[in-house]
Amino acid sequence: MPRKASNKARKPVLKTSKTPEPVARKQAHARPDGWTDVLVIGAGPTGLACAIEAQRAGLKVLVIDKGCVVNSLFHYPANMTFFTTPELLEIGGIPFNTANMKPTRQEALEYYRNVAQHYELKIHQYEWVKTVTGEDGEFRVTTLDRKEAVHDYYARKIIVATGYYDLPNYMNIPGEDLRKVMHYYNEPHPYYDTDVVVVGAKNSAAIAALELWRHGARVTMVVREDGIHRHVKYWIKPDIENRIKNGEIQAFFRSRVLEVTPEAVRINTPQGERVLKNDFVFAMTGYHPDYDFLCSLGIELSPEQCRPVCDPETLESNVAGIYVAGVIVAGSSTNEIFIENGRFHGQLIAADLSRKLASGAA
Ligand SMILES: Cc1cc2nc3c(=O)[nH]c(=O)nc-3n(C[C@H](O)[C@H](O)[C@H](O)COP(=O)(O)OP(=O)(O)OC[C@H]3O[C@@H](n4cnc5c(N)ncnc54)[C@H](O)[C@@H]3O)c2cc1C
Repeated sequence: MPRKASNKARKPVLKTSKTPEPVARKQAHARPDGWTDVLVIGAGPTGLACAIEAQRAGLKVLVIDKGCVVNSLFHYPANMTFFTTPELLEIGGIPFNTANMKPTRQEALEYYRNVAQHYELKIHQYEWVKTVTGEDGEFRVTTLDRKEAVHDYYARKIIVATGYYDLPNYMNIPGEDLRKVMHYYNEPHPYYDTDVVVVGAKNSAAIAALELWRHGARVTMVVREDGIHRHVKYWIKPDIENRIKNGEIQAFFRSRVLEVTPEAVRINTPQGERVLKNDFVFAMTGYHPDYDFLCSLGIELSPEQCRPVCDPETLESNVAGIYVAGVIVAGSSTNEIFIENGRFHGQLIAADLSRKLASGAA
């Protein structure tokens, strides 16, 4: 049941013009157990780590995810291997055992699921958090589940750990909406004996290009810069560069895709325009956090990199009682925070939660 409103002066809830419309109230299901100390939005590695730390601090915690547990990792390429050694992906002090130097996606899914089970985390999967209203100490969180039913929860504190993998950086060119243009690469088999363009030159693009070529696709890379990106992992970079040098993968550097048509891709190169015969396009142009959602919570973003304004010591945002965690803390610089370092955000936040909730504030 909702707590009774306190007598203390109410702080105004910050809102922006982007605040989404609340969902239709008629359908709302206020759950009898809908009160929690801490509500974590996002069951990625960071959200889980935050939940574990808050639970360890003696707080009642609920995690809500619009997909499954570690939903982003579930949608990563099927055959992927992490860049990171397993101990750097560990959360909650649970060892990540694998026979390999670098774990696979499948192993990571097993690991994070086991951790969630071990800590008996309360996770509501397939519920999309649509709005957060109220104020520090008495937030109301409204979600929409798979059956379009609306649920209300009440929380004293909110942790936002919504990641960045849901929203691709679009090229904003004609034809980008064709079904053959994809922003997520899964596996190579369907592209055997087809003409595939891979846009971009970072890790995801290099890995997709190599895997597609090794499984019989004719691959062309279209890259804005003058080479493969310097941050591409040291064991991938020579591989992709040698394939390009040998002419096994074609690459156009300092080039841009101008248009995608059902049969072709039109590109601009230093030598002028070219039209490439084409069946599929993988636009590996990166992803970004859901800035509109953050703004709808009243969180301010920095002008350049859209970093949420927050206290670096506690990760509490400019909205009292709302914390940010994981890759969203870096705004558009998504290559600054990974699982490796984001997994420690839970400890910073839990320490602050303990201080504030134990002292009786909000
Ligand atoms: C191909 C690839 C390989 C990578 N390899 C590595 C690696 O080797 N090592 C490493 O450290 N990092 C790696 N990363 C980066 C790493 O996976 C991310 O930095 C990490 O997942 C971020 O964790 P997070 O918990 O902040 O966000 P996420 O893992 O993205 O979790 C966010 C969660 O929030 C949910 N969500 C979003 N919005 C809502 C909403 N409104 N309501 C409810 N739920 C919501 C999503 O469904 C998702 O489950 C890799 C990334 C990619 C793409």
